Amino acid sequence: MQVDHAVCAFCGCDCDDIRVTVEDDRITQVRNACVLGKAWFMNHSQPSDLPVARIAGSPVSLDEGVEEAARCLAGSRYPLVYGLSSTSCEAQRTAVALAEVLGGCIDCCTSVCHGPSGMALQGVGEPTCTLGEVKNRADLIIYWGSNPGESHPRHMVRYAVMPKGMFIPRGRKDRTVVLVDVRRTASAAAVDMFLQIKPGKDFEALWVLQAIVRGQKLDKTSVEETGLTLEQVNWLADKMMHCKFGVLFAGQGLTQTRGKHFNTSAAFLLVRALHQHTKFAIIPMRGHGNVTGVDNVLGWQTGYPFGVNFSLGYPRFNPGEFTVVDLCCRNEVDAAIVVAADPVATLPARAARHLAAIPTIAVDTHESKTTKIAHVAFTTCTVGIHVEGTVYRMDNIPILLRKILSSPYPSDQEVISRLLTRVKELKAC
Ligand code: SF4
Repeated sequence: MQVDHAVCAFCGCDCDDIRVTVEDDRITQVRNACVLGKAWFMNHSQPSDLPVARIAGSPVSLDEGVEEAARCLAGSRYPLVYGLSSTSCEAQRTAVALAEVLGGCIDCCTSVCHGPSGMALQGVGEPTCTLGEVKNRADLIIYWGSNPGESHPRHMVRYAVMPKGMFIPRGRKDRTVVLVDVRRTASAAAVDMFLQIKPGKDFEALWVLQAIVRGQKLDKTSVEETGLTLEQVNWLADKMMHCKFGVLFAGQGLTQTRGKHFNTSAAFLLVRALHQHTKFAIIPMRGHGNVTGVDNVLGWQTGYPFGVNFSLGYPRFNPGEFTVVDLCCRNEVDAAIVVAADPVATLPARAARHLAAIPTIAVDTHESKTTKIAHVAFTTCTVGIHVEGTVYRMDNIPILLRKILSSPYPSDQEVISRLLTRVKELKAC
């Protein structure tokens, strides 16, 4: 059997032109995907031998796992719901309901990647567009603090650099591509100009560009603090002001270095200033397949994109207080449910140690460091391979994932729904 238009939900590109060949309920061939996408499909197509649920490492039935996990969550005073960047919007929506019933915190992987972009969005607004507009209109592409060649291998080929579009008939030949970063990465080979700035000087470089775009004269010495020369910033500002449609793709080099949301706010304000001259947009380079989805789901359900607290019965937002690293490093939460994420492998050791010390419930498709330390671990099937679901591409376009294979495991949404029902019963609400 051949499945056309399957969606790869590994990275924020969410490529929906994948062709998958299935034989005997196994994926045997994947076409159009990059090396990361192929590995994602092939890894998830192998039957798992993990039990559907485990308590303290011992296999139990799904019902027993749900009962124990619900009891831990309902009995906690300050629980945390975390992760959600690699699951469906349907599961994310149910997780928000669970966090609300528990009166705890809900945070997602955004708080350790593009949280500063979400804060800049709420602070100064986000002048953005879709990847379809990029393909059809953009004649200037700037990657800033991002290495798409390795992190999003089809981004350049499918959306931003190579494709021919309605107003870009010659594709790559009609585009100028610039990379701004603190070091020369693999992506530098694919661009027209690589500009190397000094580490920690993104804010200054973006502000310098905005000053030039606003018509101010700058002296050579103050510009050179950024690592760029006056000629280089004048060249880039000139390209930005005189393109027909420019797009700045902001990576984690902007959001996770000194300055964080000040950097992204400076980038958003630069793009806004460019609207005095031309059409310009900015798109954050989102990493996980549905990390944009969880921001949207949290946004429409609570008003905030990450780090939300329900302790007072209504949502409150405070990065640094209600975000996963802070809650765990300060030993504040006394139970946690982690869905489709591996914080023990990715967060600071102190936060990981706290998750290992409290009753942690892990819901994931495969074994990870978090499932290994979890008091209760559920094995679930993969959205986009074993079950349908919705994800949001990095440009906030919702995409429906298809079911390709069957699976004996429940979906993330099914497990969270069952936990929600049981927690409501235990809390008598
Ligand atoms: S670029 Fe991303 S979404 Fe597209 S095939 Fe590669 S890993 Fe999958």
